[in-house]
Amino acid sequence: MSRRSTSLLKQVLNGLHATRAYRLVAPWTRGVGAVFMLHQVCPPSGEAFEPSRILQITPEFLDLTIAKTRSEGFDIVSLDEVHHRLVHNQMGRPFVSFTLDDGYRDNLVHAMPVFDAHKVPYAVYLPDRFADGAADLWWLALEAVIRKANRVEIEMFDVPWTFETSTRHGKEDAHSKIYWWLRSIDEVEARGVVRTLSEEHGVDGAALAADLLMTWDEVRTMNANPLTTIAAHTSDHFALAKLPEDRMHSQIDTNLRRLEEELGERPQHFSYPYGCENSAGPREFDWLRTLGMKTAVTTRKGMLFPEHADHLTALPRLSLNGDFQDVRHLEVLLSGAPFALLNKGRKLNVS
Ligand SMILES: [Zn+2]
Repeated sequence: MSRRSTSLLKQVLNGLHATRAYRLVAPWTRGVGAVFMLHQVCPPSGEAFEPSRILQITPEFLDLTIAKTRSEGFDIVSLDEVHHRLVHNQMGRPFVSFTLDDGYRDNLVHAMPVFDAHKVPYAVYLPDRFADGAADLWWLALEAVIRKANRVEIEMFDVPWTFETSTRHGKEDAHSKIYWWLRSIDEVEARGVVRTLSEEHGVDGAALAADLLMTWDEVRTMNANPLTTIAAHTSDHFALAKLPEDRMHSQIDTNLRRLEEELGERPQHFSYPYGCENSAGPREFDWLRTLGMKTAVTTRKGMLFPEHADHLTALPRLSLNGDFQDVRHLEVLLSGAPFALLNKGRKLNVS
């Protein structure tokens, strides 16, 4: 999610909370449930420059979120149960499901004990190449380069640019311009650009990934917990909609096969890498349905409605965003009111 859309959502949340308007509209906007999206669960790093902080929440906030969600009357269920309730139209109590993308080691170290304490099920979406030790966390490598550098030189749009990055403001400006340019171009090329920058600035991307991501043994430890569902997230974490069809297929098929080989069970749930409109669309939704996945989630924002029973491979999620670690926001988020505003009243956003 971009900084701009994050701050827009924050304004909407604050406004709705201040007026309590969300309570009035909740019966129409809340739908039947929601899927929470998390990435890292860890104590604050204390870094001043850390754009990826929006993808981190603390174990304490996870604990509060679970307690608050239950006290608001929601059941907390597994993805299998989300599928079951949608398919069989069992819409008694509202429900949420917790999902974590990418397979960060802190999910095992910090999140699992919290889920265990509350007996809450959750799913981890895992690229097999990440657990192989071959991840390219290019977005974190880029952040590490800009954090370290006082000046970044780069060619964008065939034009040489020089960013002064000695100040926090300079770093944020450079990051936002370079990151969104990289997201707009071919991803193989984008990853090559970050590799070159990393070499120039002495950032070891492989070490960074090894430090952050679970190994297969750690994944197996997590998977032995009956509360855990290990789910699919492609092999190498490319934005699927930008790939030719055969590569899109192989990224998914290889991931399903590898997870089955390593863990003994074929995954039945899937998350689209990046998950935005430019990263996953109807071509991908159809392919996951053809493969017989029970559910597949995007990063499009929204609540679940009974109509999603016909769109099980294009489910929206609610991001538990590191910038919103405030349970007051949670109450507003779970009312669905912000998404009714942001999605202009549309329940489904699946095209
Ligand atoms: Zn991911």
